[in-house]
Amino acid sequence: MSSQLLFIFLVSLITLIINFAEASLSQLCPTPVLSRLQRHKIVSGESISSIAQDYNLIPETLIKLNPNLKRKSIWVGQEILVPPFNGIRIEVPNGATWNDLAKAYGIRADVLFEINGCAKIPTVVYIPGVDWQIGEKTGQNDYMGLKRYPLPSVTRVGLTYGWHRNPTTGQSFFHGGIDLLAQVGTSVLAADTGRVIFAAQEGTYGFLVVVYHGNGRQTRYAHLNRFQVKIGQTVKEGDVVGYVGKTGQPDLLEPHLHFEVRYKFPVGWVAQDPVTHLPKL
Ligand SMILES: [Zn+2]
Repeated sequence: MSSQLLFIFLVSLITLIINFAEASLSQLCPTPVLSRLQRHKIVSGESISSIAQDYNLIPETLIKLNPNLKRKSIWVGQEILVPPFNGIRIEVPNGATWNDLAKAYGIRADVLFEINGCAKIPTVVYIPGVDWQIGEKTGQNDYMGLKRYPLPSVTRVGLTYGWHRNPTTGQSFFHGGIDLLAQVGTSVLAADTGRVIFAAQEGTYGFLVVVYHGNGRQTRYAHLNRFQVKIGQTVKEGDVVGYVGKTGQPDLLEPHLHFEVRYKFPVGWVAQDPVTHLPKL
């Protein structure tokens, strides 16, 4: 009997300690950014740029958070969400951890954890510190567009950009580009005018060419067989930069071009979904 009482006492004590720990944890944590979004009702004469400026944000932050928002089609009375600082909201795939997110976005895991309210398992989170300076420099233009597809003809996408689960290990991983299926030896073409800033072997990328297009934007062409360009060389859209190969550690067995679009942010070069940058096909 006494051992039963002792057991009940211990369970109560442990529960109390856990509750206390959780309470103090939530006190330490600031309110998650996504619970601190303000609503802004658009009034006559406002534009996305002017609203962004009023809140000390860049227009891309507002556009990303309000997917219905098209820069040229806002209306008076429309309500939009405004975050406290620049960043993007993302849905986290099942199984991804704070460390996975930290690695994918180049931001410390403890920072992400804290600004998102110290949730144990991330589901929908705000990734801070993203600075789309590119959007400001080019004003109202559709700056996202690359001039052409990086292969001679449009091919099937073997692996999309974003989170995927490795079928063998069950682990989540972030794919920073798209895998465009193409035979080994297929010409790989510069997607836009720019300067070759890298053409060498680089870890899992294998033979990699990086072209800088100005305005904080670059494209990457990986797993190449061989190069057709040298560092420092200027290319225009459609110029051959190399040939499809299987170097490095491709995520697919089928030969493909791993193609990335990256933007310069204060935290480094952040991969974007290339599909949103390629010309409409
Ligand atoms: Zn890939």
